[in-house]
Amino acid sequence: MDRRLFLRSAVAAGVSAAATPALAAQFAALTKVGSNINAVTGDRAAIEIEQAAVKELADSLRGNVLLPGNAGYDAARRVLNSGIDKHPAFVVQPVGATDIRKAVTFARERDLLLAVKCGGHSYAGKSTCDGGMQIDLSTLRHARVDATRRIAHVAGGSLLGELDGESMAVGLVTTAGTVSHTGIGGLTTAGGFGRVGRRFGLALDNVVGADVVTADGRLLHASAEENEDLFWAVRGGGGNFGIVTNFEMALHPMERRVVGGDILYSGSMVREVFEKYREYGASVSDYLYCDAFTASMMEGTDSMAGFHVCWSGPENEAEKILAPLRSLGTPLADTVKAWDYVELQRSGDSTEARNVAQYMKAGFINDVPDSLIDAIADGFEPMDGRTVFLYCQHSGGAIGRVPTPDTAFAHRKSLANMFVIVEWAKDAEADTHVRYIRDWWGQLEPATDGYYTVDTSDESRAVRHANYQGNFPRLLALKKKYDPTNLFRLNANINPAG
Ligand SMILES: Cc1cc2nc3c(=O)[nH]c(=O)nc-3n(C[C@H](O)[C@H](O)[C@H](O)COP(=O)(O)OP(=O)(O)OC[C@H]3O[C@@H](n4cnc5c(N)ncnc54)[C@H](O)[C@@H]3O)c2cc1C
Repeated sequence: MDRRLFLRSAVAAGVSAAATPALAAQFAALTKVGSNINAVTGDRAAIEIEQAAVKELADSLRGNVLLPGNAGYDAARRVLNSGIDKHPAFVVQPVGATDIRKAVTFARERDLLLAVKCGGHSYAGKSTCDGGMQIDLSTLRHARVDATRRIAHVAGGSLLGELDGESMAVGLVTTAGTVSHTGIGGLTTAGGFGRVGRRFGLALDNVVGADVVTADGRLLHASAEENEDLFWAVRGGGGNFGIVTNFEMALHPMERRVVGGDILYSGSMVREVFEKYREYGASVSDYLYCDAFTASMMEGTDSMAGFHVCWSGPENEAEKILAPLRSLGTPLADTVKAWDYVELQRSGDSTEARNVAQYMKAGFINDVPDSLIDAIADGFEPMDGRTVFLYCQHSGGAIGRVPTPDTAFAHRKSLANMFVIVEWAKDAEADTHVRYIRDWWGQLEPATDGYYTVDTSDESRAVRHANYQGNFPRLLALKKKYDPTNLFRLNANINPAG
């Protein structure tokens, strides 16, 4: 069980792109607009965009421009978190890097607020906006595997399932997140934890090349040999440096059959679960991915605590490896079994309509001190009408062996990414739940050391910059070089003004 849990009541709207209108219909819609289009700049100042300019942009693209009211506009503007309800002035759906270059140039020349959407999983909704241009990459989805070179070429709007499916079909794999409709773009530019991350590193550790449209509208190839500084920056700098149109990712041989699932105890065992996690999570084999969590569901106040595991080593060793996790007592449920890796990766996907809103706080933990266990156990408050979820996503292993200065991702020494999420019915009052998580986080945060940039959003500029730790000065210099006007600002933003 993991972030997947929340998807049972999730998805629908933003994930699958609705049918896009024919070009002729779009042009008709554009010419029906009686006046200029109201929009905002990056600094949220009101501006008007000439209708003729938008039509000219639309004419020049192979892809689509969608205005409010066009078919597909609502699916594009929405993100997974249904608490986010923003309306871009218009949406560009590119079908190639050239379309993206034109859209980026259009936005930069007008100082237009710009949002970039891939899978739409940003909790804070940074891939959509009010009044700006949204570039929706859902029209740019494709993964191709070169089995001989063990490289996957993945288009920048792809979802993780495309990468997993194509690579495992030829017995190869690379690290991807645990929900297969997460976007490659947001996940890989920021980090990329997943079930084989302790074996093969973060998703970004496996990037060997990236094609990037930068703020000046150029398409640059970034690798260890070419534009090395940009290559460094896009591996951990999130969306700050441009739009990745294509990722080249290193693949590794792996058996399709892995052993995975959940070991669930009653919530009253929460201390024992996290005490076990302290020694076990830190010392176990790289072939084991082990998350620890405690959760309560929307209905009622029952709670549970337990582990989610994926063992990708020899199947006959799984029982011995997992025995310590089963030694805490009689589990409420034990769903661990041998199954297909791609199936496990898809096991938390959902296509149900979303009717919940979410709020989240997150931080990396380097260990599990008693004070943290106390804060977890004492602060966990199930309530009928909300879901509460504290989760530690396993890090370490190969992730921790990459020297911190090698990529822009700064948090190499962590044991896990710990996050708390509260979820409530979309139309219900939010304040109580948000306040609860903020208060609880006040107790948990002292045990953290920085946070995963995609998981949090309401921090100050100083805190955000400090979170890049020792990599910040270099990131700032590169932001000034590649995006001096901060066109790409809807992300864990590095402000070029410092
Ligand atoms: C259900 C769920 C499960 C998750 N599981 C995991 C997990 O197992 N492991 C993990 O590490 N994280 C996980 N995450 C966090 C996830 O990695 C981030 O939310 C990430 O931002 C999602 O990427 P996206 O493309 O779907 O997001 P979007 O909302 O589409 O984009 C988020 C941001 O990414 C940037 N971006 C998107 N595409 C590109 C691109 N092509 N080039 C440059 N920048 C781009 C933009 O700045 C954008 O604002 C999960 C999130 C959710 C909601």
